[in-house]
Amino acid sequence: MNSTKIDTTNYRDHLSNVTQAGKRIWIYPRIVIGQFYKLRTYVSWVLLGLLLGLPWIEIYGHPLFLFNVLERKFIFWGVPFFPQDFHLVAIGLLTFIVFVILFTVIFGRVWCGWACPQTIFMEMLFRKIEIAIEGDHNAQKRLDSQPWNTEKICKKSLKHIIFIKMSFLISNVFLAYIIGKKELFAIIFDNPFNHLAGLFAILLFTAVFYFVFAHFRELVCIVVCPYGRLQGVMLDKKSIVVAYDFVRGEIRGKHQTSTEKDVAKINNQPVHGSCVDCKICVQVCPTGIDIRNGTQLECIGCTACIDACDEVMDKIHEPRGLIRYASLEGIEQKKKLKFNARIASYSLVLVALLSILGYLLATRNIIETTILRAPGLMYQENKDNTISNLYNVQVVNKSYDEMPLTFRLKGGKGQIKMVGNAMNVISSEVAESSFFVFIPENLLKESSVKIEIEVLSDGKVIDLVRTKFQGPII
Ligand code: SF4
Ligand code: SF4
Repeated sequence: MNSTKIDTTNYRDHLSNVTQAGKRIWIYPRIVIGQFYKLRTYVSWVLLGLLLGLPWIEIYGHPLFLFNVLERKFIFWGVPFFPQDFHLVAIGLLTFIVFVILFTVIFGRVWCGWACPQTIFMEMLFRKIEIAIEGDHNAQKRLDSQPWNTEKICKKSLKHIIFIKMSFLISNVFLAYIIGKKELFAIIFDNPFNHLAGLFAILLFTAVFYFVFAHFRELVCIVVCPYGRLQGVMLDKKSIVVAYDFVRGEIRGKHQTSTEKDVAKINNQPVHGSCVDCKICVQVCPTGIDIRNGTQLECIGCTACIDACDEVMDKIHEPRGLIRYASLEGIEQKKKLKFNARIASYSLVLVALLSILGYLLATRNIIETTILRAPGLMYQENKDNTISNLYNVQVVNKSYDEMPLTFRLKGGKGQIKMVGNAMNVISSEVAESSFFVFIPENLLKESSVKIEIEVLSDGKVIDLVRTKFQGPII
């Protein structure tokens, strides 16, 4: 994604926040409150509200979302999914992966900058608390370099106590998504010795979140996040990313008025572009990179450099947008970002993918019935001139409710009699039983006929199964 027209030093050979000796360089990003920062703040309020609020919402006594991997219970928008829905989960995951790839090809790392929980918690919560306690980037640097005096001890202690409390809170919310709020409340309010595993999980998550937001920070995006590391294969020249307009910006240097530019041209001296090389775009970057080097793996698309550069452009009375959302091709060809056919077609595919997933979820049956003829058994000829076949039935109940089930032959040309008790399947369980199907012999026109069996609960048909019925050779 880089161009030969811009500075290509050895920035790709090392991380911006690590020294040649492998030592971490702590990043103190300068905060610029521009239009994108304000917009991201509003978006983050909504997303934080959703993220922190959703696990407490219940529908008919069941969570709206649950991702209990250990017990293999999943609830998505109030719809429960069980291990029997594995095919749906697999299709859903594949659709999601294709969606993410296509989305990234067009819109770059919009997700990372605007919606990723790591960015939102780090930049919109923990960073703001840090600034409120320790001051801006310069004050933070000063504090870190000064000896451990009362001011430093007080500020650092206060910050880390708040960070631990915030991590504890996030850990509880995170656990609520996994085990549900009822289980979580049981861990919190019940005798702790009855919930040692749960308590351990809360403390472990708290420690992980604290480590991530207090210490590891941008390294999550640069080193750990697989999505970030795959950017190189997903982005192309047409992808919309946060980009520096090197055509307009180069040659960097002191701001020149139009008269100074004319004079420079006449004297065969360099004519400077719009970039005044103030490096404020680098100072605001939470991953410590210089976006003027081109799109880099470390760029999380947070837009801080756009705001910073816009502020500089305002000061020197140049048009905003030296750093902006743009594609490399758009910058090279000096084209403005437009909703073009490529974006439209990719967006259509994205909508189609989401529709497929929505359709699969909406048409998912709440039970799964398997009816097979009992192995090794032929048909039986009965005294009342009927032929009977024995069937084994297995039903998976994928709803929250217990279901009494009955079976009926569609078309009403025969009867079904259960072997043993009536069938009752409790929520998320599998039940098995057997029944006979009786069909009058004179209705059988072939030795093997197709039949349809309706599965009913409370008088309503909830499933239909097709199978075969064997009779004597005619
Ligand atoms: S903020 Fe703008 S003008 Fe300043 S160095 Fe960055 S790109 Fe150049
Ligand atoms: S380069 Fe700009 S958009 Fe990318 S992470 Fe740094 S400040 Fe954010």
